[in-house]
Amino acid sequence: MFAIFFIVQGMDKGIILGLIQNTAILLAFSMLYDYFWLPKKDTKTIAGKILSGLIIGSAGIVLMLTPWRQVPGLVFDTRSVLLALSGLFFGLIPTAVAAITMVIYRIFLGGMGIWMGIAVIILSSVTGILYKKIRPAWNSRNYIRELAFLGFLVHIIMLACTILLPEASILPTLKNIILPIITIYPAGTVLLGILMVHQLKNQENQNAAEKLVESERRFIDLLTNFNYFSLILDRTGKILFCNSKVLETSGYKIDQLTGKNAFEMLLPQSTIAAVQDAFDYILRGKTVFYNYETEFKRADGEILNIEWNATVLRDANKVISSIATIGQDVTNRKKAEAELIKAKSKAEESDNLKSIFLSNMSHEIRTPMNAIMGFSSMLGMDDITDIEKKQYISIIQDSGERLLKIINDIIDISKLEAKQFSVNLSECSLNEIFRSSIETFRKSDLLKEKRHISLELDPDSEHAEILLITDKHRIQQVLDNLLSNAIKYTEKGTITTGYRIITENGKELVEAYVKDTGIGIADGMSKIIFERFRQVDENKYHEGAGLGLSITKGIIELLGGNIWFDSALNKGTTFYFRIPLIIPQNEPVSLKGGVSGIPDLSGKTIIIAEDDYNSYYYLRLLLKGLNANVLHAENGMILMRLVQHKVPDIILLDINMPVKSGFECLDDIKKLGISTMIIAQTAYAMASEKERCLSSGCHGYIAKPVKKTDLYREISQLLTEKLPV
Ligand code: ADP
Repeated sequence: MFAIFFIVQGMDKGIILGLIQNTAILLAFSMLYDYFWLPKKDTKTIAGKILSGLIIGSAGIVLMLTPWRQVPGLVFDTRSVLLALSGLFFGLIPTAVAAITMVIYRIFLGGMGIWMGIAVIILSSVTGILYKKIRPAWNSRNYIRELAFLGFLVHIIMLACTILLPEASILPTLKNIILPIITIYPAGTVLLGILMVHQLKNQENQNAAEKLVESERRFIDLLTNFNYFSLILDRTGKILFCNSKVLETSGYKIDQLTGKNAFEMLLPQSTIAAVQDAFDYILRGKTVFYNYETEFKRADGEILNIEWNATVLRDANKVISSIATIGQDVTNRKKAEAELIKAKSKAEESDNLKSIFLSNMSHEIRTPMNAIMGFSSMLGMDDITDIEKKQYISIIQDSGERLLKIINDIIDISKLEAKQFSVNLSECSLNEIFRSSIETFRKSDLLKEKRHISLELDPDSEHAEILLITDKHRIQQVLDNLLSNAIKYTEKGTITTGYRIITENGKELVEAYVKDTGIGIADGMSKIIFERFRQVDENKYHEGAGLGLSITKGIIELLGGNIWFDSALNKGTTFYFRIPLIIPQNEPVSLKGGVSGIPDLSGKTIIIAEDDYNSYYYLRLLLKGLNANVLHAENGMILMRLVQHKVPDIILLDINMPVKSGFECLDDIKKLGISTMIIAQTAYAMASEKERCLSSGCHGYIAKPVKKTDLYREISQLLTEKLPV
């Protein structure tokens, strides 16, 4: 400052006055830059640039109108400062236009300094423009130094231009102007430049601020309206911002959420602690992005699943001030995933069940098969005693029974599943069914092996004779299943069974039970034991294929009843079932006697129509002792020949015979008008098969393997009823 003061002290008063005037004009020039050039976009068009150039040129002319005069025709002003800065700040076109304008005016002024004046105009402009080009980053670095350099450069060039003056004027002029030109002019350039740089920076800041506001507005618009959940929470979890998706989904109004704790408002109570932990982890700023899933509680209590992406927001001091999260509703995806997992585990379970079933079945079939094959081959050996023989035969029979039970169970379960299981309702006595089952089990090996078990019929039931209409064979099957399970799963104690009549909703029902003191059934197993192939301990072997209870349940439900159980582990189990009590309308018929004795077939002829010799031989043995005359027909043709030769009293007709089938024979017999009794025998134990045989004209029906009692019963029934063909 002092330096400038002394320089100014040593200068001509005219120069000082001129400089002050010039300064005022240059300030006006800088204002032009600030108000006219910087904020307006249209000044950047060619026309705008030319106009700006004309305005700058006018300012230059005004400068030239207020010069300090060296000698007439030689004037000095600050055009060099104006044009250098114009080149630097406005660029080529405005500066060129301004320079041309000013050159014209200078020519118009004339005088001995004309060439120097024009040269200063042109060279100052060119220096400013080139400086802008060569050092494009001048104002982002140390711009004061850059401006000072430009100021000196322009004014040294200006001093050099004195060479264009008439020779005699060069030295006196130099002497007079050198001091202000190399001090005040560069300083003026720097000061004015600084002013303009500040104006430029201000404008840039202002533009940046406007852009920031605009981009923030767009960002908030986006957050507010897009189809994702968006929340901004402060460090305590307080909601600073929530978008419309959050509001719509949660069912809250904006003022119900803003300022409230997000965890308390939007999370189920039980999940708050875990989410708070995750939130604290994010606040520690260890990761830039954090992905997590939470439940989301709506105002109406419904729970959704949301997957969030969170990031931390920092203040100017880089301290984490809040957390911004964006979330997506993944409830449906979660449900689908859960269903997929369920389906997968179900598929795995059924796969597992299939293997268990196959190994179980294989075992269940091979065991009796093994006994049958092994002991029947032993029967052929010469050195066995009669006692051993009897033992072997009894083993073979037991094994056969066991095999038959499995086959029957498989047929029953398939029929139940195919909804082809039919029940045959008839009048029967409950007491008889229960007694008969108990008798059979008491004699069975199953109970004999378990010496510490007694099997009892409830004394109340023993004396209660209930006659009802139901399917007695099926009820017997149910009871047998329950009793055999009770015996199988009990080591010691008593197995009691019984029945009573109860009334429910005005209807009379029979409620029966089988109670044991066995191993019991664990709580969780109550559902699965009624499912086919399921056993409580699937890893441990028990005799049985896991079909009994599902068949039992199927039968009871077909009879219009229901089945359930009570159990305590290691204490025992009681199975109950209920069926409707349908009382017969007619006089009860005696169920005892009549059909069950040994029929007398003296003088009667029976033809066994059977292609398989073993089966024929077996039937023949069964008929031994009935005094009948037994003939064998190996196929349908032979049968017809025999029948036509002499009409038999009874034909045991195998339906599946070669040459001529049983049904064809039936047709022919009918056509020929031959009167004989026909009992069909088939290996298909289906109800439909029986019906088909009866409707085709058979009088009776037995399923293979034929049991002696069934055969006798069927024959006796025919002989008593004497049905015509
Ligand atoms: P299984 O042929 O295995 O006996 P069931 O269908 O009759 O098949 O029974 C299914 C499973 O239920 C049995 O494997 C057994 O685990 C359980 N269960 C049935 N009855 C009883 C009972 N009285 N006491 C204990 N467990 C039983």
